[in-house]
Amino acid sequence: MNHCATSCFGHENYHGGCCRLEQRDFIIGPIRDATVVLERLRVRTNNPYLRFEEVFVDFAEGSRMFPERATWQRPENFPAMRVDTRLADLPCVFYNATLKACGVYEDRPETCRRYMCDYLVQAQKEDAEQIV
Ligand code: SF4
Repeated sequence: MNHCATSCFGHENYHGGCCRLEQRDFIIGPIRDATVVLERLRVRTNNPYLRFEEVFVDFAEGSRMFPERATWQRPENFPAMRVDTRLADLPCVFYNATLKACGVYEDRPETCRRYMCDYLVQAQKEDAEQIV
């Protein structure tokens, strides 16, 4: 079952919580493969001029963006995925809320590929037990 798109963290009709900051002290980083990801996204978007700062936020900028959020004050958490500050739920600039999914799924960073929230770990365990 795709919990992330239908029942993120067990909340019905809630989706993609780990792709949005909302009001939480949360950061989508560090993105250790940022250089590789940027190259992939340049190809994907057919835009060789896509800039690092259009995709990521560095510590100097990020620490000023959310001075009240502790995770944004730690240099080791950067670079982080850029979030759209025009939207109240502060989504990653690549999150597709209509599709309820990552808009660059095949080319997303390792941080996103590996991220498993506590709820997802438990839900996948239960799904596996039902299959056996
Ligand atoms: S790159 Fe994709 S998976 Fe990663 S935070 Fe952004 S929308 Fe979510």
